[in-house]
Amino acid sequence: MTTKPFNAFLMAQQQFDRVGELLGLDSPTRELLRWPMREYHFNLPVRLDDGSVRIFRGFRVQHNDARGPGKGGIRFHPQETIDTVRALAMWMTWKCAVANLPLGGSKGGVVCDPHNLSAREQERLCRAWVRQVARDVGPWQDVPAPDVMTNAQHMLWMLDEFETIHGGRYPGFITGKPVGMGGSLGRTEATGYGVVFTLREAFKELGLRPQDTTASVQGFGNVAQFAIELFHQLGGRVLAVSCWDQPDQTAYCYRRKNGIDLAALRGIADRFGGIDRKKALELGYEVLPGEAWIEQDVDVLIPAALEHAVTDDNAARIAKRVRILAEGANGPTTPDADQILRERGIFVIPDFLANAGGVTCSYLEQVQSNMNFFWKKDEVLGRLDATMTTAFLAVLEVSRRQNLPMRDAAYVVAISRVAEACRDRGWV
Ligand code: NAD
Repeated sequence: MTTKPFNAFLMAQQQFDRVGELLGLDSPTRELLRWPMREYHFNLPVRLDDGSVRIFRGFRVQHNDARGPGKGGIRFHPQETIDTVRALAMWMTWKCAVANLPLGGSKGGVVCDPHNLSAREQERLCRAWVRQVARDVGPWQDVPAPDVMTNAQHMLWMLDEFETIHGGRYPGFITGKPVGMGGSLGRTEATGYGVVFTLREAFKELGLRPQDTTASVQGFGNVAQFAIELFHQLGGRVLAVSCWDQPDQTAYCYRRKNGIDLAALRGIADRFGGIDRKKALELGYEVLPGEAWIEQDVDVLIPAALEHAVTDDNAARIAKRVRILAEGANGPTTPDADQILRERGIFVIPDFLANAGGVTCSYLEQVQSNMNFFWKKDEVLGRLDATMTTAFLAVLEVSRRQNLPMRDAAYVVAISRVAEACRDRGWV
């Protein structure tokens, strides 16, 4: 990892400014879109199991809701910062727009490490978060969802608190709920599968056969595991994965020459996507430093962990053979690294396009919750595939027509749609 100071929000603004210039946006539209419309900062007093009270810091940022209610996950992370949440909220605006969903962009977070909290303490934290924002979020305002280190159980506690406050049943308040409690089939798979739906289309564009391809993945959480699952179903082979090792407080890369065994690795992973190193060694995996995932001799790299994974420090070390970077994580590539990838001719499927499957399925969950009628899994995944494929092809078309890299083309599609909605509403 680079030691240079990194600010995700400055990076998100930098990316926006480049495309704002390219599109010739007027200055009020630029000023409106390069900042969040609203943000909430709060302290969350939570009683711990030992009777003491600890104060956690929480956020909700609503970047833009011109195209519909805000949508975006809540992250629990010890290094969470307001600027990370701002960046992620902005990326949600572009993500919903590029997938052509009638939604805006938001994000939330709490500075905490759930590894060190009991289930009851996590429940109290979730309920405390909702109490702070209950009047500023809701089915028609801003709809939260799970993200890093939050899951369906957290969403259900949050829903219960929201419904207690508002005195009714509002399943459309939050998505990522457990199936049978307003959740959608396919939601767990959606983000990882969505990455691979776009990857499949990129293979067609580059004339590659999926069954001839190999990949290396950073992360072994929700996004990574389902991306690997569908990639294997298409016939590709994943040779290496890397993940965070909680006891050692560092990342390790797990490699097997003939490809990883997803089921076996799942069997030795914890619910936070950490792999048991000792058991992996017993299963015949080589254990390498965490950064090694990027240097593997593969066709595809899938960063699916945290932001700031591909930097100018490591981009040059990407193996010569790599053709595609499919960004499962949000903001994994710094602008400097992006430039290196461009020069190397690596086809980048940018984060807010590649990982739009999660929010697309969240939208489908909301629609089902509001109807109180639920589709079969195949129906959900079919709609997801159609949305992701349409989005990819729309971006590809702009990329070809305007001779732009895919990231810039995705921004052009998304920002044009949001700017148009702001103009049509008479905001600018
Ligand atoms: P997760 O918590 O389930 O998994 C995160 C994984 O990253 C874990 O395996 C962890 O060990 C690994 N990790 C953490 N730090 C690492 C490091 N330094 N090196 C290597 N691995 C490391 O999270 P997730 O839901 O899979 O989300 C992953 C990324 O995808 C995040 O950027 C998130 O914002 C983004 N995302 C998630 C969704 C979703 O629906 N879950 C949707 C869109 C985008």
